[in-house]
Amino acid sequence: MSQRDDFKRTIAFGDVALSYMKRNELPAIPRNYELWYTYAAGFNPALNRAVDTIIETRHEITNHDVSEIYDRYLSPNHLGDRIDKVGTTISEELDGIINLVDSSLGSTGDYSVSLKGAQDALSSATTASQIKQLIRDLVAATEKTESTNQKLDDQLKESRAHITALQERLEAIRYESLTDELTTLANRRHFDQSIERAIEEATASGEALSLLLSDIDHFKKFNDTYGHQTGDQVLRLVALAVKHNVKSEDLTCRYGGEEFAVILPRADAQQAYEIAERIRQSVFSKELVKRSTGENLGRITISIGIANLRLGDTASDLIARADKALYSAKDAGRNTVRGELERKKTGTAA
Ligand code: GH3
Ligand code: MG
Ligand code: MG
Repeated sequence: MSQRDDFKRTIAFGDVALSYMKRNELPAIPRNYELWYTYAAGFNPALNRAVDTIIETRHEITNHDVSEIYDRYLSPNHLGDRIDKVGTTISEELDGIINLVDSSLGSTGDYSVSLKGAQDALSSATTASQIKQLIRDLVAATEKTESTNQKLDDQLKESRAHITALQERLEAIRYESLTDELTTLANRRHFDQSIERAIEEATASGEALSLLLSDIDHFKKFNDTYGHQTGDQVLRLVALAVKHNVKSEDLTCRYGGEEFAVILPRADAQQAYEIAERIRQSVFSKELVKRSTGENLGRITISIGIANLRLGDTASDLIARADKALYSAKDAGRNTVRGELERKKTGTAA
């Protein structure tokens, strides 16, 4: 897309965002702008649904609503805060445990002082009633220590349950931070981490590694013709088609708006090419029918570029070559796979 196209499209979203803020009398602070821009662009369907539901039911949207929606749906930017919150709760929980252990040590210390005192008193006790009293004191001290220990036991159990819940929350945050909401594929952040690791592993083992970069053909036109929501459905469909054609050890990611990347460990140039062809054909083989109206939307095609790891490659070297191959697939007429090996155009045959 040219810079001029980008300019026109983004300014249009910006204008719509501003008009939403004006209409709802919301301050045009960066957070609000980000939310309404996302709403106008329609890239986050869950966010749009949340906003629409509030407007439909209450006919107005307050600053508080906006703030809640921001926290929930634009949360990746807030992950740091949420992790901090979990961290603070864990640290409070640990403080509680340390206090408990301290007070339990204190009561054990008292108990040992009582025992020592009883021992001394016993050596000087002369009457049966003195000894009886000593035993009563000892039983009382023992019961007190027992009850403190029971309390400690209960409180430790409770803390353990809290910490397990906190661990689960952290795991959920981690999952969310690495997942693309629309397609449920791994997101770009996940990709960036995984490609580095995959290169390290392949370099260490001397095994092959390939990268596919795919991009939906003429997707802007599709969106313009059928609307963004239908476009989103197509993104989900293509995401599934890509994922279903690779092994579970391969990582399929939403690399950008309508771009998907697949990291293929242990796949050489030939194998990567075959996988890419399979994905291309699988997408092309699907005839799109709009569920609500039964309208036939034709077929979607994708172009795929492949790069194969070379000794000394960094992640950006590998990505740059896949991107170049993708570009030459587009140049060759789209609905095409291009690798680093010289290949003849696959054309539009399924
Ligand atoms: P090409 O064949 O050269 O790739 O053409 P194209 O139209 O696909 O490429 P371009 O980069 O001009 O447009 C990409 C389009 O992808 C623009 C944008 O509307 C759409 N897109 C990006 N992300 C999303 C999304 O999350 N949902 C929907 N519906 N569309 C998206
Ligand atoms: Mg693109
Ligand atoms: Mg495209």
